[in-house]
Parts: sequence; C-alpha cells; structure tokens
Amino acid sequence: MIGNAAILRVAEREAERFRSANPHAFAHHASATGWFQSVPFHWMKDWPSRVPIVAASAKDAMLTSIDGQTYDDFCLGDTASLFGHSPPALAAALAQQAREGLSYMLPTERGAALSKKLAAMFGLPQWQVTTTASEANRAVIRWCRGISGRRKILIFNGAYHGAVDDAFVDLKGGAAAMRASLVGQVHDLRGTTAVVEFNDEAALAAALRGGDIACLLAEPVMTNVGMVRDAPGFLQTLRTLCDETGTLLVFDETHTISSGYGGHGVVHGPKPDLMVVGKSIGGGVPCAVYGFSADVADRMAALNRSRPAGHSGIGTTLSANALAITAMNTMLGEVIAPAAYHPMLRGAARLVAGLEQEIASAGLDWHVTQVGARVEFLTCPTPPRNGGEAKAAMHPELEAAIHLFLANRGILLAPFHNMMLVSPVTSDDQIDRLVGAFADCVKRLKE
Ligand code: PMP
Repeated sequence: MIGNAAILRVAEREAERFRSANPHAFAHHASATGWFQSVPFHWMKDWPSRVPIVAASAKDAMLTSIDGQTYDDFCLGDTASLFGHSPPALAAALAQQAREGLSYMLPTERGAALSKKLAAMFGLPQWQVTTTASEANRAVIRWCRGISGRRKILIFNGAYHGAVDDAFVDLKGGAAAMRASLVGQVHDLRGTTAVVEFNDEAALAAALRGGDIACLLAEPVMTNVGMVRDAPGFLQTLRTLCDETGTLLVFDETHTISSGYGGHGVVHGPKPDLMVVGKSIGGGVPCAVYGFSADVADRMAALNRSRPAGHSGIGTTLSANALAITAMNTMLGEVIAPAAYHPMLRGAARLVAGLEQEIASAGLDWHVTQVGARVEFLTCPTPPRNGGEAKAAMHPELEAAIHLFLANRGILLAPFHNMMLVSPVTSDDQIDRLVGAFADCVKRLKE
C-alpha cells in the first residue's frame, strides 16, 4: 500500500532535514576519529540517521542532544532506562556509594537486602549477579548443561539473548543454520543448539522428547524479532513438555519485565526453573541477575561438590560490585515498585489506542502489538506467529524512513524494529506527540 518511491522520497527529505538540524552531531562525528567508525560502540551506528544523534543528557523520558534538540524518549536506552532516566532515588544512592568505594569483591549488607527483594519480586529463592544480561544467559546455559549432563540447548527461531554464542542459531529451510552476520565465529553451534519456531507445539515436543536438551532458553514473548505473542496455551504446554522431559525452563525476562511487576512469568505464568533479567534492573548501571528454584540450587551445589577446584567459566571480576548492588537494591526498593507499573500500563494503552486509530483512519493494514509497557507497530497485515514469519514481514527501508521522520519531530524510537517503551514518567503529552507525529508520517508516506 505504501510504495518504494514514497519511502525513498520521505527518507531523502528527512535525511536532509536531519542534516540541517544537527550540525554539531555531524561535526562531532567528523572529529571523533579516535573511535572506530567514530563511535565508542559499533551498535551506535545502527540509527537511521547518517550520523547518530549525540546525547548531552537525559532526565525522566526526555533526552537532549548537543544540537539542543529535545526528544520524547521511547527508546529509553533500549530498555536500560525503562523506568526513566536517572530516577532521583537512584542518582542519590549512586552518589553515596561513590563515596564509600565502588568494587570490593566482598558481599555487603545492601546485597543481602537485594537478594530478598529479588526473591519477593520474581518468586525464585536463589540468585546470582552478573554484569550484563548476555553474561547471565551464558552463566545459566553453563549451569544447565552442568547439572543436567546434557549438551544441547533449545531456542526459538529469531531469538536474541545477547552476545551469547550458543543462541546464534537460526532455522533455515527447516534446519538449524549459523547466523551469517557473526564476526569471527569459528565454532559450529548446530550440534549443540537446537532451534524450533515459537508457537509450534509439535516441533517443540519433537525436540524435547529426544531427552537430550539441557534447557529451553526463551523469552515468554519474543521481543527481538519484532514482537511475537504466545498463542493461547503455548507457554503452559512448554512448561508441561519441559517437566515431562526433564528439561530446565529458562525465561529471559530482560525485555518482558515490561509485562508487569515480577515480569511475564509472574504476571501470566508459568513459572520457570531459572530466569534472567538485566538492563532496567540497574537503571542504566551495568548489572544483571539470574534466579533459580531450590531444586536447581541443590543440583548446582552438588555439581560444585563434585567438580575439581578451579575456574568455573562463570562470572567476571566486576560481577556484583558495590555500585551494581546499590543500583539494583535502590531500583527494586524505590523505583521498580508495583505502583510504577500503573502509569506505564495506562500510558501504553493510550499509545496503542492512538496508533490503532491512526492506522485505521489511514486505511492501512498495519497492526500494533503490546507486552505491557512495550508497544510495537508492525507494517504488515497479520501478527506474525513466529520468528520466521516476523523476519519475512520486516521492511527495513520503511522502518528507517519512519524512525528518521519521528526523530526529526523530536521522537526517539529504538533503532531496532518499531519498539516503543512507556516509562512511569512518560507523560500523556509525550504519548500524544508520538501518535501525532506518526499520523503525519503516514500522511507523507501516502502522498
Ligand atoms: N536478553 C534479551 C531478551 C535481550 O533483548 C538482550 C539485549 N537486547 C539481552 C538479553 C542482552 O542484554 P545485554 O546486551 O545488556 O547483555
């Protein structure tokens, strides 16, 4: 319905508009030659503009650039700042911790308090801390293989669990395939990572009934290939099949913490054997956690007794440093409260209603998907049922044109697909501005 010529026309016009509105970003890019490709981290090249916006500061759900532009921030650091930039309680606690030392390689009293908060929020009794969600997933995979004695893991096609070698396997033509884009990948993972489509009960049952899968690592709703919702009953089936086959069920709730207090598993069920959550749990301070059942903890302790002393292959020096512990303890104690979810979910509902109305009045066959405070518009007629369908439905050029149009109107979306996050401090005005700019963009694309 929206042709390539229109997409190109909008993209070119918006690229020019971005250039003239952001001279300092272009000058910064030209002078930042000490960084490879002018950025300290190569993902920062993934924005749809010729050069990235250069951030000056951010507060609540508003970001300011060095060009003096302000943005309604629906990217929120790609979930790291899901609960708003620099919540006052976090800023104060970090400042205090900075005066008391930052990393000791010793447990602290705040850490003990944090472990109780984690158990209360997520419903699992035992926890460990890592520095990123990627690292937590790597740790969990090792533990699951270690305690089960099984070599293989199972993931869903199109999943993303961070920089985790074992999870970089796709389904191509019905068979596992290595992700072609990986840098320096020398190990063939297909023998140890099995992959099936999300929502495919028959394929899931067949994979698990081999009895050789250590763990199923999954997001309860897929959020990294666009958003793919679980079909009714699918998650319960998944739990039942894991139980029947002695497979450990791991929920990676790094993104689906948006579902509600406790994450998707607590709000909607079922309960996993292990879970991972990172990013927002530290409010932007690098840290993540993984939690597990008492039974898993017993098996981990038994494994520890049986293995020789020495490197476990799990953890890094800065894991559970004092700053990270304080960040999480403050976030869980004072920011990520049940009450914080009320404005998030109410705001997300407002956003969904606004977008759906604009899509309908433009006569487009697009749709909107929601996982609590996480909302996405998809430029395809039917919601994809799995990663394969979601990948086929993607339209990168259209996506980039829309993102750039919105950025030029002071709206920031994550550079990866059309995901929008609503924080507890996102105002109705910000949501309405996004809906209004989206409507204008659609109008331009239809001209
Ligand atoms: N799990 C999920 C579901 C994610 O979306 C991501 C990152 N997008 C990660 C893990 C990895 O997080 P990090 O990059 O902070 O390690």
